[in-house]
Amino acid sequence: MTPRDVLELMKQHNVEMVDFRIVDVPGRQHHVTIPAVEVDEDMLTNGIAFDGSSIQGFRGIEDSDMVMRPVLETAFVDPFMAAPTLAVSCNVFEPNGTRFERDPRYIAEKAEAYLASSGIATTAYFGPELEFFIFDDVRFESSNRGAFYAVDSEEAMWNTGNGEKNLGYQVKNKGGYFPVPPIDTQQDIRTEMVKELMNAGIRVERHHHEVATAGQAEINFRFNTLTRTADTVMTYKYIIRNVARKYGKTVTFMPKPVFGDNGSGMHVHQSLFDGDTPLFFEQDRYGNMSDIALHYIAGILHHAPAILAFSNPSTNSYKRLVPGYEAPVNLVFSKGNRSAAVRVPVAVVSPKTARIEFRTPDCTANPYLAFAAMLMAGIDGIRRKLDPTALGYGPINKNIYELSADEKAKIRSVPGSLEESLQALEADYEFLLEGGVFTKDFIHAWIDFKRTNEVAPMHLRPHPYEFQLY
Ligand code: GLU
Ligand code: MG
Ligand code: MG
Repeated sequence: MTPRDVLELMKQHNVEMVDFRIVDVPGRQHHVTIPAVEVDEDMLTNGIAFDGSSIQGFRGIEDSDMVMRPVLETAFVDPFMAAPTLAVSCNVFEPNGTRFERDPRYIAEKAEAYLASSGIATTAYFGPELEFFIFDDVRFESSNRGAFYAVDSEEAMWNTGNGEKNLGYQVKNKGGYFPVPPIDTQQDIRTEMVKELMNAGIRVERHHHEVATAGQAEINFRFNTLTRTADTVMTYKYIIRNVARKYGKTVTFMPKPVFGDNGSGMHVHQSLFDGDTPLFFEQDRYGNMSDIALHYIAGILHHAPAILAFSNPSTNSYKRLVPGYEAPVNLVFSKGNRSAAVRVPVAVVSPKTARIEFRTPDCTANPYLAFAAMLMAGIDGIRRKLDPTALGYGPINKNIYELSADEKAKIRSVPGSLEESLQALEADYEFLLEGGVFTKDFIHAWIDFKRTNEVAPMHLRPHPYEFQLY
């Protein structure tokens, strides 16, 4: 897309406003809006100045001038604004024209460039599967308690929203996957989400109710290159949340909103290509996996505790990573097995679909940082020719939740808390610094930010459940 194409698109849709968006370090979008009559080729090329001082993880008030410059291929007509509006994601620059080191999009682009320069592969493809809950929005119906307040799944099950116990057509515990309506009450809202995603240029593959009782959904879109996929994740969340809002509902991507039921993950499918040649496929091997794929897996599993500081970066993330809910707990790989952190999907229809699925991540991740960290770990595994079996990472083909104590003792687990993952990152980040992709400054800022704003405040607060216990 050229600036001219964008101006043409604006004309076609009678666009009145252009919304420039950036992503902060924790992974939230921010925006500033310019009347379309003020937007010309020059602005679409060189961007606009903004004050970066109040944006989380960016910088202080003493040094706040920054520039956001549109990435034109991310433009879409935003259906949620009253005035016809074009939304576009931006890269962040210093006033002197250099890239801003803490722009997550820059880190993602550097990871891709590093892969290409390594000679290992030209392209990494990422395909994340986001799960989320659709709840009644308490702001719209104050009498509606919704599943937010459920203390256990029984209560969630009988919380019909009007204080009465409606026993008809209720979803059974963990029974959301996937009876037809009327048990599935969210078909229409998911379909509208899908239509809006498609209007925004996102190629949607399917949607369905997920396993959790209290309105859990999954909508999948097609894989793409790393940075473009992270862009799509941002647009996806924006659209999903805003369609829900139109219905008087609210969506949460929180990993474990309801006690006793399944949580929401963001499994990430990954593969490497050299031009058109898939590098993860080799016939008649375990899972039809090449050596490169095995090294990549070993890199992911070996660095997993540190990766989790980016892929599972909330205190709530670790409430999902427990046995019994299809979320992975074990640092092993396996064909088909959903209790393993890395799954090799069995249905390899053609060499091009050969991929690995890292099941640990969740949607509280900043996708630019999480995907970059995964790719860096995979590259490190390939460079060092790490062998997942020699390192004790499987393959394991049984249900790991049901292994004997002896067998289980040999298997390593994911970190048990955000603080543990931050400690793992503190001890293991050299692989992220290769090629200047991440910087030491950024990693330390991330660890500090998470400790100060999330780990400590959670730790210091009495928990509602403590009132029940004590
Ligand atoms: N919701 C599960 C998780 O937390 C995953 C279910 C699935 O395999 O799709 O990861
Ligand atoms: Mg799922
Ligand atoms: Mg999956």
